[in-house]
Amino acid sequence: MTDDAAPMAPIGRASIEDPPYHEGAPESFQRLWTPHRMVYIGGADKPKDSTPGQCPFCAAPGRGDEDALIVHRGERAYVIMNLYPYNTGHLLVCPYRHISELTEASDAERLEIIQLSARSMEVLRAVCRPQGFNLGMNAGETGGAGIAAHLHQHVVPRWTGDANFMPIIGRAKPVPQLLGDQRDMIAGAWDSAPATPREP
Ligand SMILES: [Zn+2]
Repeated sequence: MTDDAAPMAPIGRASIEDPPYHEGAPESFQRLWTPHRMVYIGGADKPKDSTPGQCPFCAAPGRGDEDALIVHRGERAYVIMNLYPYNTGHLLVCPYRHISELTEASDAERLEIIQLSARSMEVLRAVCRPQGFNLGMNAGETGGAGIAAHLHQHVVPRWTGDANFMPIIGRAKPVPQLLGDQRDMIAGAWDSAPATPREP
């Protein structure tokens, strides 16, 4: 953009801001504003408080698997489709207990969360052949956790070229399969997908 251009150039509801627009800020970065993301950030479906009674990850196991989009129930943790997926097959591994961070999890819970994360990778490999994964936990709202009160590990399958400007410019994240159909395929493959060969 040139110096005499308007500071905000609208692209749909996203806008690119000229670098010098903020006084004192580094000038080497443009900012791509995506106000529609506030629907998520502002928490349209977020719990009103951090109590178990408001918590979707406490409520889900009390519902049926298909209704709640639960893929697998373990002893201390379960696996559920993310309602706001970054990608096809985006799973969350949650302990049943309403704890907010990994530091509060018992040894048995820590072990099972990791075991279910690894199994999720194996099952997703068998079902949708991703070329990579992102695994991670966001601790605290400042750390990016949408539901900060209840620990959840993200397992996000990745394909070459899946990261693009569609979510920003098009206001849509292309997820080519409905969540219920994804759940059925992943749940159906949970017991039969091949395990990765490894040391006992
Ligand atoms: Zn909870």
